Amino acid sequence: MHKTLRLILGDQLNNSHSWFSEINPDTTYVLMEIKTETDYASHHIQKVVGFFAAMRQFANELSTLGHNVIYFDFEHFDNKHNFIDNILLLVEKLQITQFEYQLPDEYRVDEIIKSLIKLLNIPSKSFDSEHFFTSINEFGEIFMGKKTYLMESFYRKMRQKHNILMTGNEPLTGKWNYDEDNRKKLPNKHYITPPLTFQNNVNEIVSLIKRKNIKTIGNIDASNFIWPINRTQSLDLLDFFVKECLPNFGTYQDAMTPHEWSLYHSRLSFSLNTKMISPHEVIEKAVEAWQNENLKIEYNQLEGFVRQILGWREYMRGIYWHTMPTFAQLNFFENTRNLPSWYWTGNTKMNCLKHSIQQSLNYAYAHHIQRLMITGNFATLAGIHPDEVDKWYLGIYIDAIEWVEITNTRGMSQFADGGIIGSKPYTSSASYIHKMSHYCGTCYYNKNLKVEDKACPFNSLYWHFHHKNESKLKQNPRIGMIYNTWNKMEENTKIAILNKAEEYLNKIEEL
Ligand code: FAD
Ligand code: SF4
Repeated sequence: MHKTLRLILGDQLNNSHSWFSEINPDTTYVLMEIKTETDYASHHIQKVVGFFAAMRQFANELSTLGHNVIYFDFEHFDNKHNFIDNILLLVEKLQITQFEYQLPDEYRVDEIIKSLIKLLNIPSKSFDSEHFFTSINEFGEIFMGKKTYLMESFYRKMRQKHNILMTGNEPLTGKWNYDEDNRKKLPNKHYITPPLTFQNNVNEIVSLIKRKNIKTIGNIDASNFIWPINRTQSLDLLDFFVKECLPNFGTYQDAMTPHEWSLYHSRLSFSLNTKMISPHEVIEKAVEAWQNENLKIEYNQLEGFVRQILGWREYMRGIYWHTMPTFAQLNFFENTRNLPSWYWTGNTKMNCLKHSIQQSLNYAYAHHIQRLMITGNFATLAGIHPDEVDKWYLGIYIDAIEWVEITNTRGMSQFADGGIIGSKPYTSSASYIHKMSHYCGTCYYNKNLKVEDKACPFNSLYWHFHHKNESKLKQNPRIGMIYNTWNKMEENTKIAILNKAEEYLNKIEEL
């Protein structure tokens, strides 16, 4: 008799997958809470809890529907705490004749499954995860023979291929990109509807984490866990987003303030990355909301959102599979410095960093510009080793899974890829941070000063970074202006700025 074992990974909680369209008594599904997954990074406690809670609910739903499900919780007596030994054990115990799995999103897990398959003496079969718009190889096909991988061309191809916001082969409004309308600072005294959060009771999982000494970072309210842990909650969050946030999403997409932690962002990344909801339905729902005249959503808000999901998210996945494992080794600037320890506590006098980090520790969340232009920007300017930066981003965010974390961190934010993803490093001095946020007003440092006492560290570090990396960057046509300005400065001014930056770097732990 044919007996199949199907592995469901923690980020494959897709109940619309064709696997589940029929109930087969000879098929067993397995999900597992294992040490190799809790220990490969210092995860935020909300990330571990979020994954375990969502996996448990998913397993229960499948069982209720009548599927055979084995759930290895962390303390299950048979749990060997790694994929390979657990699968080998089940294959033997259940006399399995075929092993099946959905293609993993992470290179690391893909390698583990390849090793497992070599050890199995039964046939195995892979399936698409039926979640993304693009297949793993599609990116390579789109950019075949091209020297650069422009996100904009990728995005336009996706719009055309999937007929999203199109009329025939042309963009619906005649214009592809509304980015220039989408860069406003939050006005003072601007009211934002409080974010929809959930009150999930996760005391049991939090006790487990403590009991088993699973090393985590960050804070949690175990009686009111705020993140969606099932499809129903994910859909509620999507519904809240399109009604309450989408009308202002694009306009304030880049804005930052110490008073709000999620502004008009969707906070759908955890639901999306665990596949509790699909990018197709998220886009459909956003388009539907825009078509609903009562909601009065302008087109630039919608396009900005669609660009993130259909553009950036699929593009990052394409880059990941096209460039791994090399991508994880790239260190274009040959940086060596350690990440300051205050990244793990938020104990710094720099207000922008303090708020972005403390918020990340409290919610396992920061929005894109906080990740890119505050924590990422500082790490780039200070010359932190990209491995250190990756480790931090991979741990601290609830949505951090390597395919989307490393491409954003090592690529977009740190420019450690030398320009595979971005055409120039995303760096700035205090002027951009002040332009887009309300952090500087109450900061210990002075945003207007470069070299004086209490001068904002971003100001001298910005020039120090460009000076230090001139040979690597000066040919970049998008950076020429910066070197023109630098070269026009008095020699004494330049020396004072570089000295100030060195002073700050030497006492980076005290900043
Ligand atoms: P929204 O602002 O509401 O955007 C909607 C959706 O678009 C997101 O849920 C996400 O799925 C997608 N999206 C937006 N920007 C990107 C992007 N650059 N790449 C891929 N998808 C995008 N995203 C992750 O999902 N996991 C990560 O580990 C991660 N690490 C990051 C690290 C750095 C240094 C930076 C700069 C960005 C990172 N991002 C990551 C991308 C982005 O910041 C998050 O997707 C976003 O902040 C999640 O919040 P949201 O759901 O409220 O997003
Ligand atoms: Fe950040 Fe400098 Fe502004 Fe302070 S003054 S909040 S350190 S940019």
